[in-house]
Amino acid sequence: MNNLKPLWTKVSDPDVIIIGSGPNGLAAAIRLAQAGRKVLVIEGHDVPGGGTRTAELTEPGFHHDVCSAIHPMGMASPFLKTLPLEKFGLEWIHPGIPLAHPFDDGSCASLFRSVEETAAQFSSGSEAAYRKVFEPLMPHADSLLEAFMGPTKFPDNPLAVAGFGMRALPAALDAARLWFDDEKARALLAGNAAHSVIPLDRPLATNAIGLMLMLTGHAYGWPVAKGGSQRITAAMIACLESLGGRIETGRPVVSLDELPSVSSYTFDTSPSAMSSIAGDRLPDRYRKSLAKYRHGPGIFKIDYALSEPVPWLAEDCRKAGTVHLGGTLDEIVVSEREAWEGIHSERPFVLTAQQSVCDPSRAPAGKHTFWAYCHVPSGSTVDMTDSIERQIERFAPGFRDCVIARHTMNCDDFERYNPNFIGGDIVGGVADWGQLLTRPVISARPHRTPAPDIFICSAATPPGAGVHGMGGYRAAEEVLKA
Ligand SMILES: Cc1cc2nc3c(=O)[nH]c(=O)nc-3n(C[C@H](O)[C@H](O)[C@H](O)COP(=O)(O)OP(=O)(O)OC[C@H]3O[C@@H](n4cnc5c(N)ncnc54)[C@H](O)[C@@H]3O)c2cc1C
Repeated sequence: MNNLKPLWTKVSDPDVIIIGSGPNGLAAAIRLAQAGRKVLVIEGHDVPGGGTRTAELTEPGFHHDVCSAIHPMGMASPFLKTLPLEKFGLEWIHPGIPLAHPFDDGSCASLFRSVEETAAQFSSGSEAAYRKVFEPLMPHADSLLEAFMGPTKFPDNPLAVAGFGMRALPAALDAARLWFDDEKARALLAGNAAHSVIPLDRPLATNAIGLMLMLTGHAYGWPVAKGGSQRITAAMIACLESLGGRIETGRPVVSLDELPSVSSYTFDTSPSAMSSIAGDRLPDRYRKSLAKYRHGPGIFKIDYALSEPVPWLAEDCRKAGTVHLGGTLDEIVVSEREAWEGIHSERPFVLTAQQSVCDPSRAPAGKHTFWAYCHVPSGSTVDMTDSIERQIERFAPGFRDCVIARHTMNCDDFERYNPNFIGGDIVGGVADWGQLLTRPVISARPHRTPAPDIFICSAATPPGAGVHGMGGYRAAEEVLKA
C-alpha cells in the first residue's frame, strides 16, 4: 500500500520508527523515548494496542477484552513495573481467587495467592509435593522472572534459576504424574501448562510455562485491568506521549520504502511480515531462516454478555478471575494434543475469564461479561460454540439460560483482526524447546537482524507471548547499543 500520507512530518521528524502498537511495540517506544529518541509508532489498525484492546463486542455497555484479559505477566514485568502507569490511569484489580479448576463432582482446585493454602486442598502426599515445588522458589520470584523475561545474561541468582530449571525440565504430563498422586493437583498443573499451546507430553516448555504462571500467581496474583485491557494500552500511550513520542493509527505498513528515513525501524510484527516489509534490506540468508519460523494451533473464542454471573457448581469458581475447564490431567492432555493433530476436540480444554466479577465497570449493573476460548487446528473456521458451551454447562448447569448475546471469532477472524495472529496462533509462534529462546532465529541477540537499522520486538522474540512488553524493552536496548 503506497497511499500513506506523510503525517509524521507534522509530528516533528522522528528518528526511530516502531511498526505495530502491541504491548511490545509500545514498550520499545517508551524505552527509546526515555533515552531521548524522537519516536513514532505506526499502527495498521484504527485502534492501537494489538492483543491488548477492549470493545463492546456484544451489546452496548458490555466491555469485552478482545484478546488478553488476565495479566500476571503485565503486573510482574520487570520493565512495566518501573513505569508510572497508574499515573496514566492503569489500575490492577485482583479477583478473590486468581484461578479455579472445577471437576465433575462439583468440587474444584484453586490457585490461591498462598502456596500453603493451595497445597492444603490436596491429599497429604500432594500437599507436601506442592509445597516442595513452590516454597523454595517463592523468595526468588523476582529474580526468576527477571531471568525468564529479561535480557540474556548470567543470572543474578544462579542457584534459584537452576532450581527452577530442574523443575521445568520434564514434560508437564510427567511432572504432574511424578510429583502428585492427587488428580486435582495434577489437573491444576496441566491447565497452567496448556497455556503453552504445546502437547503436554513434550519436555521443557510445557512445564516451564505452567510453573512460571503458577509462581507469578502466588507472587503477584492474576489481575485484570480496571475498565478493560485497553486501559493498559491507553496508559502506555499516555506514558509515551509524556516523553514526546507519537502514534499514528490506521496505517498498515507494506514496505519500508513508504516510511521516512530514520536511524532504526523496530518491528512489532510477525517474522514473515517483517521479511516482506523490509524486503531486500534484509539478506537472503536471514529471510530464508525467517521463512522457517513455525506457527502452532489457533483458537476459537466466544465473548458473552450475561444476565447474571456464571452459575458454577463450585463456590470457588464464582470468586475466581480465571476458570480452567477441562476436568482431569488425562482429558487436558488429549484435548491439547488433538489441536496439533488437526482434530477439533469434542471436549476441548477451555480457558475462561470472568472480569466483571471483580470489575463491575465491564457490564451494566447486575450484568456480566464472560470470555472463553479453546485451542483448535491452525487456520480452523469450525464453529466450536457447542463444544465450548457443553464444557461450561458441565461445570455450570443452566449457563445457557444466562446468555443475553454472544460474539465469536475463529482463526481467520483473529488473523484479519491482527496480522500477527497467523492461522489464529495467539502466542506469536510455537514456543517449544526449539523456538522458545531462539525466536525468530538462532542468535545470541535475537532482537537484532543482520541489517544494522532493523530490529524485531514482537512476541516472536524472547521472552515470547504475553502482555509484559519485555520483547519491546529488549529490542529497544539493542537499538540503543547499535
Ligand atoms: C484471545 C487472546 C487471549 C489472550 N490472553 C492473554 C492474557 O490473558 N494475558 C496475556 O498476557 N496475554 C494474552 N494474550 C497474548 C497477548 O495478547 C499477546 O502475546 C501480546 O499482545 C503480544 O504483543 P505484541 O506487542 O508482540 O503484538 P500484538 O499485541 O499482536 O500487536 C502487534 C500490532 O502490530 C500491528 N501490525 C502488524 N503488522 C503491521 C503492519 N504491517 N503495519 C502496521 N501495524 C502492524 C497489529 O495491528 C497489532 O496492533 C492473548 C491473546 C489472544 C489473541
